[in-house]
Amino acid sequence: MSPHKSSAAGFSSLGLSPALIATLTDLGYEEPTPVQAEAIPLMLAGRDLLAQASTGTGKTAAFALPMIQRLVEDAAGRGRTRGLVLVPTRELAMQVSEAVHKYARGTTIHVVPLYGGSSMEQQIRSLKRGADIAVATPGRALDHLRRGTLKLDAVKVLVLDEADEMLDMGFAEDIDTILAATAGARQATLFSATLPSRILAIAKRHLSKPASVTIAGEKTAAGKQPRVRQIAYIVRRAQKPAALDRILDIENPASAIVFCRTRIEVDSLAETLNAHGYQAEALHGGMQQRQRDAVMNRVRAAKTDLLIATDVAARGLDISHLSHVINYDLPAAPESYVHRIGRTGRAGREGTAITLAEPREQRLLRTIEQLTRQKIEVATLPTVADLKARRLEAMKASLQERLVAGNFGELRAVVDSLATEFDVLDIAAAAVALAQAATDRGGDDQEIEIPREVPREMSREGSRDAPRSGAGSGAGSGPGSGPRSARGAKGPRGASEEPGTRLFIGAGRRAGIRPADLVGAITGEIGVPARALGAIEIAENFSLVDVPEELADEIIAGMKKASLRGQKVIIRRDRESRS
Ligand code: AMP
Repeated sequence: MSPHKSSAAGFSSLGLSPALIATLTDLGYEEPTPVQAEAIPLMLAGRDLLAQASTGTGKTAAFALPMIQRLVEDAAGRGRTRGLVLVPTRELAMQVSEAVHKYARGTTIHVVPLYGGSSMEQQIRSLKRGADIAVATPGRALDHLRRGTLKLDAVKVLVLDEADEMLDMGFAEDIDTILAATAGARQATLFSATLPSRILAIAKRHLSKPASVTIAGEKTAAGKQPRVRQIAYIVRRAQKPAALDRILDIENPASAIVFCRTRIEVDSLAETLNAHGYQAEALHGGMQQRQRDAVMNRVRAAKTDLLIATDVAARGLDISHLSHVINYDLPAAPESYVHRIGRTGRAGREGTAITLAEPREQRLLRTIEQLTRQKIEVATLPTVADLKARRLEAMKASLQERLVAGNFGELRAVVDSLATEFDVLDIAAAAVALAQAATDRGGDDQEIEIPREVPREMSREGSRDAPRSGAGSGAGSGPGSGPRSARGAKGPRGASEEPGTRLFIGAGRRAGIRPADLVGAITGEIGVPARALGAIEIAENFSLVDVPEELADEIIAGMKKASLRGQKVIIRRDRESRS
């Protein structure tokens, strides 16, 4: 447990209990994100809520913390399911239930994830043991409701998470059916990245006098916009350390600050970077003033390469100019992004802001782009080959400089004596190889996988009943046009992203199948992203769906276990297209 409990104090002013605050302090959270600051007091007061917030804004804690607290405080109905979170996909069911579990660890609250494709028996056993909170995909929740293994009459707090995605997947009717099984007096909240009229209609049906919460801040006034080269790389969490190494290698920043969300991340990243040969200093709110001053003295004396900091710790930092600001984590609010990158590009100097965003955070990236009125170029990570080329280029430039400086003295004699035995070009190449080895940081340059998900389009209109055809090309459809931009370039994953295998499903129009049913089953229950799917054709007695070959077996296996409109269906590779 951290000795500096007071640093998560921002949370206690929202009405959270000391036990939850202690957990947040342990997690390294320093202050609430904007959506948390708004939603938590309202939810604790029992209000229904309509919240516009996308992944990356801290929305999970915004609903999970008050849900946990309300269930702890109101013991009536204990042992029954009193909290329900509906989410669109299996992946999200796992993520959200892990998050709830993490936030509830100082309490007696139990959470169970319910999603398709995993053992029904195990889920039933967990439900029987008593799950206070269920985090479920609509399909699996209905399945349990029909079997009588999930009862919702004791539900006090209900969350519809990523509601727009659930509607996109055709879950509207399922949601209505599930909510009809909950008690009338429950608190209902809806979180959605967008609020189109379909969402407002759902809100009208199921929420009672909801308070609205939005994180869409004020647009940055013209003239206050940062003048900075802004680049984002889409990388999975697990690959962030390697991605940062690569970026630092390529950018070679003169002075940089790397922002993380939590103090735990700050400490661990500083440690990793130091192990990789950088001089990195950590700075966060859990440190004593004396320690912070020492860090800042080392930074000012240019004894460090990199400062790793949380937003809170960096506030009010007196550093005149930085060549680079790196967002190791995307900030939860557009305003923080503007603050962060405002630390570079000052006084007419050139600045670079680099952001590592996770695949699911691309909507937040677009929100930031809209509010700052500046393009953030979505770029592909430099490959190992790029890195090598860049290192060679740098080496060549140093050699040129040294050659121009001349004055080689006895070094010429060394070369001269070797030249009796070896080719002069080979001698020079060997010298370069030695020089290169001396500057090597010792990292093993492995290719970094580009996430399967491609950047979302800004608008999701038209995606309701039919998925976008094709899966995009390469890793970026960002707006940039510079040499690093992925647009137009063939990303490393290139054409293999195109759905290549046609699946036959033994049910069609006659069985009432719509494209949304197929998308819902494949994405919601099996966890494949909608954008990985290609064309869908619904015939009278069967349907065809194009999917990427590498996912075909997983989808077939998943669909064999799942049901479509309550029926088991035949699914296999389409024979016609296999010739
Ligand atoms: P979410 O938008 O719920 O997916 O959360 C995005 C990430 O932010 C997760 O990794 C959370 O652990 C983290 N997070 C949420 N709230 C805070 C906070 N107040 N301070 C720091 N990190 C947070």
